[in-house]
Amino acid sequence: MFERDEQRTLMIVKPDGVQRGLVGEVISRVERRGLKIVGLKMVWMDKELAKKHYAVHDGKDFFDKLIKFITSSPVVLIAVQGYHAVNLVRRMMGALDPDEADRGSIRGDLAMSRSFNVVHGSDTPENGEAEIALHFSQKEIFDYSRSIDDWLKND
Ligand code: ADP
Ligand code: MG
Repeated sequence: MFERDEQRTLMIVKPDGVQRGLVGEVISRVERRGLKIVGLKMVWMDKELAKKHYAVHDGKDFFDKLIKFITSSPVVLIAVQGYHAVNLVRRMMGALDPDEADRGSIRGDLAMSRSFNVVHGSDTPENGEAEIALHFSQKEIFDYSRSIDDWLKND
């Protein structure tokens, strides 16, 4: 299904991003980079789904706040595919702490808070697949080629 080095990752425009009108900005950055959007939808996560998504943070002091935040408004889920997509998207997102997020990154340009930071991105290829499977049905993920794909390869 994938070309060599291709990966899939889940991005989320979080509640603050939706409320601040940054959905288009995030999608636009993904598209301009050349990454392929293979799934896209708006959902309002319930607490059960949010806790599954953030299970790795269960027990941490910010967990309850995080679940409240991520369920406080609709979010936009973007399944993204591309070469080294996981790390590429993490770099495009920027670091968690807005002070440390590189200028030019989504958080570095647009976020001021560690809790409200506009976007989520999977942190490993395995989690990318798992998170896409958690939020999308198979029918909602599209395997298609674009005429630009040949211009976006490594070789
Ligand atoms: P990332 O989103 O960069 O992968 P983490 O996986 O460490 O960061 O944390 C998940 C989310 O939990 C963060 O994006 C942020 O919304 C929230 N969060 C993490 N650490 C804190 C914190 N110390 N205080 C408040 N919220 C936090
Ligand atoms: Mg994380």
